[in-house]
Amino acid sequence: MCDTCSSMDRRKFLQHSALGLAALALPQWAFGAKSEGSKSKDEKKGPKEENRAAPAKPANSNQKVTPEEAMARLMEGNKRFVSTKMFHPNESLDARARLATGQAPFAAILGCADSRVPPEIVFDHGLGDIFAVRVAGNILEDAGSGSFEYAVEHLGVPLIVVLAHERCGAVKAAVDGIESGEVAPGHIAELVRKLKPAVDKSKDAPGDKYENAMRENAKRMAAELAGLEPILKEKVDGGKLKVVAMRYDLDTGIVEVL
Ligand SMILES: [Zn+2]
Repeated sequence: MCDTCSSMDRRKFLQHSALGLAALALPQWAFGAKSEGSKSKDEKKGPKEENRAAPAKPANSNQKVTPEEAMARLMEGNKRFVSTKMFHPNESLDARARLATGQAPFAAILGCADSRVPPEIVFDHGLGDIFAVRVAGNILEDAGSGSFEYAVEHLGVPLIVVLAHERCGAVKAAVDGIESGEVAPGHIAELVRKLKPAVDKSKDAPGDKYENAMRENAKRMAAELAGLEPILKEKVDGGKLKVVAMRYDLDTGIVEVL
């Protein structure tokens, strides 16, 4: 972290304060979505000059953020990632200090444990932005369900994303294991058990069997979360929470809604 960044943060904070309450009601990304051409000289220095989306305080407030706005934040971040024009927001010492005593993430994600699909990177967000639960095959277990209930009930998260990805090793293991009838070793059998309904439902569909099973599983997990009683279903029914299945493309880096 450098002096330039700190002064930039302060300057932008003062500018935002001057905009008044209407401006403060806007989400942080609304301030950060600059074109390359509009950036100052200091901001063009490179990725180390982090926190370009210098936020009005608090950095990650999800107050007044609708499910749709949260979706827009993620998709804008993924666009930056795909075009390698990342902001790397909320990685600074200032952000860390602001977040030391509390969090208000704007999205929760059920993602695969796969090392190639870290949500904060593929959506170009930082500390305090995303509440992540990661399990191979992005499957939902009881502890994961409780984690999402906590995120929604206590942290006010308005959006849950099930983030599946192509060529998922867990899905491949499940499809191959179910086809061959071989029992997977150790606790991998539990992953296969949880993925089996999606594999069974998609097995006769045209196209790539692994891709089909991965898509089906993501949609099933999203439906399971959306119908989870008593906390999540009530929020979904009341329009306070959205649950969306997405697919990450390993080749292009693009995230699409399923
Ligand atoms: Zn995976």
